[in-house]
Amino acid sequence: MTSAVDVSVRSDVGVVRSVNEDSMLAVDPVFVVADGMGGHARGDAASQAAVATLARVLPAGARPTPDEVIAAIDEANTAVRALSGAEESGIAVAGTTLTGVVRVRVPDNGEQWMVVNVGDSRVYRWNGRELDQLTVDHSAVQELVDAGLITVAQAAVHPERNVITRALGAEDLVDTDVLLVEPRGRQTFLICSDGLTKELDDTEIARILADTRGAYAADALVEAAIEAGGRDNVTVVVVESVTGEADSAAEDTRDRVEETGSIEDTRPRG
Ligand code: MN
Repeated sequence: MTSAVDVSVRSDVGVVRSVNEDSMLAVDPVFVVADGMGGHARGDAASQAAVATLARVLPAGARPTPDEVIAAIDEANTAVRALSGAEESGIAVAGTTLTGVVRVRVPDNGEQWMVVNVGDSRVYRWNGRELDQLTVDHSAVQELVDAGLITVAQAAVHPERNVITRALGAEDLVDTDVLLVEPRGRQTFLICSDGLTKELDDTEIARILADTRGAYAADALVEAAIEAGGRDNVTVVVVESVTGEADSAAEDTRDRVEETGSIEDTRPRG
């Protein structure tokens, strides 16, 4: 099975920051955003090092296995870690989120979309009607939400809303969340830094996706985030995947509804 992929991308410094510390990569098979952070102006170096490593290890046209993707992210972690001095710790350390989808080849199971996440950038799936967040933020406020201590609305204005609990560059080993999504029919993945999701809620994002066709989706989302305040760098990658057998298999579309919604969690969270 093969999928045709259309991509729209946009990254903007926003209206408050002077440097864009976000980076992105959108070269098949890798579609990711990285949101850098760290003292001594090294956030941009961190996010650039992460995506440059993925671009080198998973080059255009490659069909890596999930294990090879995890190894590439481990290598990206090492590259980001090398930006900080051995004696440095805390907020001076260069770090970055790394979040997105990678087209992978699963032995005996063909091509799949592999969702990867470290940090509080996000991957959503949009089916034309509903927006599903596929990743779970690694953030202090997400932990409070999970514990039932605050609501999602309270998290959005919480003083620790920018504190993340996992990042590339923070430790020698990085723990990457992984999901596999079966490619079926038309699927849209929205990959974004928190500069989008801290300005627009899911309802607003869904409305913009519903109103915008293909090539302009990333532009429309970033412009709306800037309009809403643009307090952070904003980066958006929209990947539209159409899987070849969708038309010829139209007659069993109804039988596949459940499968279309299935996500296989390959790694227990814990
Ligand atoms: Mn950010």
